[in-house]
Amino acid sequence: MTNPVHDQLVLLSAIVDSSDDAIISKTLDGIITSWNKSAERLFGYAAEEVIGQPITILIPPDRLREEPEILSSLKRGERVDHFETTRRRKDGTLIDISLTISPIRDRSGKVIGASKVARETTEMKRADRAHRLLSAIVDSSDDAIISKSLDGIVTSWNKSAERLFGYAAGEVIGQPITILIPPDRLREEPEILSSLKRGERVDHFETIRRRKDGTLIDISLTISPVRDHNGKIVGASKVARDITERKRMMLELRRANAVLEQFAYSASHDLQEPLRTVKIFGQILMQKYGEHLDPEGVTALRFLQNGATRMETLLRDLLAYTRVIKFEKPSEKIDANLAFESALQTLGGSISEHNAQVVCVGSLPSLRIHFAHLQQLFQNIIGNAIKYAKPGIPPIVTISAKHRAPYCEFSIEDNGIGIAPDYAETIFVIFKRLHSSEEYPGTGLGLAICQRIVEQYDGRIWVESELSKGSVFRFIVPD
Ligand code: ADP
Repeated sequence: MTNPVHDQLVLLSAIVDSSDDAIISKTLDGIITSWNKSAERLFGYAAEEVIGQPITILIPPDRLREEPEILSSLKRGERVDHFETTRRRKDGTLIDISLTISPIRDRSGKVIGASKVARETTEMKRADRAHRLLSAIVDSSDDAIISKSLDGIVTSWNKSAERLFGYAAGEVIGQPITILIPPDRLREEPEILSSLKRGERVDHFETIRRRKDGTLIDISLTISPVRDHNGKIVGASKVARDITERKRMMLELRRANAVLEQFAYSASHDLQEPLRTVKIFGQILMQKYGEHLDPEGVTALRFLQNGATRMETLLRDLLAYTRVIKFEKPSEKIDANLAFESALQTLGGSISEHNAQVVCVGSLPSLRIHFAHLQQLFQNIIGNAIKYAKPGIPPIVTISAKHRAPYCEFSIEDNGIGIAPDYAETIFVIFKRLHSSEEYPGTGLGLAICQRIVEQYDGRIWVESELSKGSVFRFIVPD
């Protein structure tokens, strides 16, 4: 026969045992009378160790005065709700908990004890988890991450800081950050500290620091104030990135660029002049003395003139390339349809020569770009679309655009010879060509110019193509 009262008790104790909260009961003189599984987990004592013991074994000495207060509330039949306090585990460690204590009454309603529900403060748990996650992130970062107090003492030091500066964490924590600063840069530190005290962040500050072995490294520093939970600035975090390699490459790049610009300058002023002389005297020679030359002489002269013409084009393109340098972005929008029309006019001869069809699908947007730049983009890309046609197949070129603020994306599609995907990036490199001048005339500068223009506007240009499947050139620029 089943006993309903007994069944209910079993159910109740199962509920109590499966609770995530520690559930404890005690008598009115503070002796523990029950202890569930979560209480074992939370406080580290097994039930048989604590039942019959005074509850005070859980209370740290400086909190002992809380107990008589709780007991007197209970005796008055009052419940204590979400009382935040600290208790002590069996191993002596302290935990922050939230306590809810309710009186237990006998059948006559007399208070005979209390039940306690204790929960480890969730915020603490969450903070602890977040803290652990954060330290894992900090440790796995490729950047050196360091923290320091407001008087410049190192307080933490991750793995990458060890690699970058050569000091182990144990060697630098507690030391002044200035051990990393070369003597001639020491004046940077008070400036950084005063920015921090004002609550300001120092972003990508490029400077030089010193390794343990004395060698100097170029680094980029980002320093942010660290605040306590009241918002008071208590220190700083520093993220340092080694930019030695980047600096070296930038320097090389700048040198290479300077050489190139210098070359273009010479090209315009020094090379064009003698070239013009070659062309003009070639023409005079042909007109005046052509009939006196034998066929071999005439051919030689033609080669000479063709060479001079090719060189003229090359110089013109090179100049166009070097002219795309830092400029102000226009404040007014221009109508892309007009730039497109203008490109078509310039390409007129080539369009009719190749029997090409150039169509614009829909209307083109307006955007903030220099008219000459957009016209050049259209001219170079459409010019290529016509030039790199399949033999015997008239080129069909389709232009379209999408405007999704804050960007405009233009597409120029052709039915030409296509490009093997392996070369999709190479073709934008200066002087890179996939064909000889005999097959298709050109300088290998057209797309390099396009890329340079687009990048000056913080945009991007690319091609989607396959050999003999036609190509789609796309570029995105801010509107
Ligand atoms: P150029 O046309 O003077 O050679 P570009 O920089 O304009 O120089 O183009 C680089 C190379 O990219 C070209 O030599 C050609 O091989 C390839 N290319 C460019 N546009 C197309 C296209 N629409 N179809 C196929 N190949 C192209």
